[in-house]
Amino acid sequence: MERLPTVAELRAAGKCLPPEAVIAIDGPAGSGKSTTARALARRLGLAYVDSGAMYRALTHAALAVGCDPGDGAALARLLAAADLQLRPGERETAVVWNGRDVSQAIRTPEVDAAVSAVSAQAAVRERMVERQRQLGRQGGVVMEGRDIGSVVFPLANAKLYLDASLAARAERRWKQYRERGETIAREIVQRDLAARDQLDSNRRESPLTISPDALVIDTSDFNQEQQIEAAVLASRTNAWLDARTDWDTARAWRTLSAKYRLVYHVLTPLRRLLGQRVVGRRAPTVPPGVILASNHVSWFDPPLVGGTFRRGPVRSLAKRELFAIPLLGALLRWLDTIPINRRGYDAEAFAAARAALERGDNLFIFPEGTRRPVGRPGPIKGGLGILALETGAPILPIFVRGTCALMWGGNPASPLEVRYGPLVRLHALPRLRQDFDRKEITRRIGSLFLAIIEELQVRSYLERPETDLERRLRLDQQRVQRRKQPFG
Ligand code: C5P
Repeated sequence: MERLPTVAELRAAGKCLPPEAVIAIDGPAGSGKSTTARALARRLGLAYVDSGAMYRALTHAALAVGCDPGDGAALARLLAAADLQLRPGERETAVVWNGRDVSQAIRTPEVDAAVSAVSAQAAVRERMVERQRQLGRQGGVVMEGRDIGSVVFPLANAKLYLDASLAARAERRWKQYRERGETIAREIVQRDLAARDQLDSNRRESPLTISPDALVIDTSDFNQEQQIEAAVLASRTNAWLDARTDWDTARAWRTLSAKYRLVYHVLTPLRRLLGQRVVGRRAPTVPPGVILASNHVSWFDPPLVGGTFRRGPVRSLAKRELFAIPLLGALLRWLDTIPINRRGYDAEAFAAARAALERGDNLFIFPEGTRRPVGRPGPIKGGLGILALETGAPILPIFVRGTCALMWGGNPASPLEVRYGPLVRLHALPRLRQDFDRKEITRRIGSLFLAIIEELQVRSYLERPETDLERRLRLDQQRVQRRKQPFG
């Protein structure tokens, strides 16, 4: 994995985050998220949003009108009818529900006890997440919560996960109650906190999880200043690593082998002719190897996505059957493609892929394992997670659009696009390895990748809305898929 910068290097780098940055801070109750997020926002000149306050405001309103905290539909109606506002102030963000300032009222033991049940409702989450995304789509925000890095902003510039021992967190929460004049035994605070952790971590909908690309900070032994300092430095880490990564594809092109140059010379005019648009930063040009991971909608994806890399060497994986097709097989072998048996786990193919990454080659894969319906990426197979977990290689997510429409006679109005996401560095792997088995870590890497692809797709559709042809393909393919027949 890439070397993390030292504290001195990060300090010297100063403010290396763009003004439209999104910083996601997650962690259990009492881990120091609010203090940290508020201070970080002030230091970096970003807005601060406490997403927990939104769930608390709804819980408070539900308790006031006698609505059952487990009734998702009723809660969703209550939320839809309400005017919920967060107003950033000097010290605190004021929470205003239907014109009433409820900032204090939402921080009582009664709301504490009911909020996890409310926030576990899928109907509630869906609406809250949409509101939170609206607050952050333009950027310039530090948002704290439970699922900000994993669900709300999968493309956040920095993701921090704050943690602390249960005892340390209970002590902090107990002091907060005392300062507000509420008398409650420390043991009860600790017991309630443990119960809330349990509920928040085990619910089906967006549980509290460490996103694999988060920087984990244990604040148990930190005072407030140390905690804030650690968070400021962590929030700059990705920007620092990006600034030191070589993205200069023109230089990479000059050192590319003749074989790959020939391929690009054939593909570039074809891509131009088809009017393919490339959005976002391309692949980095220096080793260590990166996993170039794209969604898959058509046979045209390998050449039309691969044709945008222009850096090498890039190896890819292709199903073994394709090597038996006369001309194609020869072409795949000539391009050093790694054959993979898609039935079961192909140890030989994985070993070759791992070796390529470790040598510093990039590896191009389709983590869905097969073509999926247009506009409906996922589910993600285990391969991406296994490779990332075993090599620690960063992942470069790529969203491809329009290649399937091309197969159906094409349509000048159907955008042909390749959209690059940011380089995803799996900072949390050492911590995840301590807590979870391979299967769970692999699953998390897959679901992070899918969340990123979905967000890239949303951005693409916001810029260029879905065309009639794409809509027709999406509906047709979903129908075919439901009948479990091949398509494409
Ligand atoms: O952060 P705070 O303790 O105020 O959050 C209150 C509750 O809101 C959490 O225990 C959790 O159940 C819920 N929450 C959530 N997702 C978020 C933020 C908070 O489910 N993003």
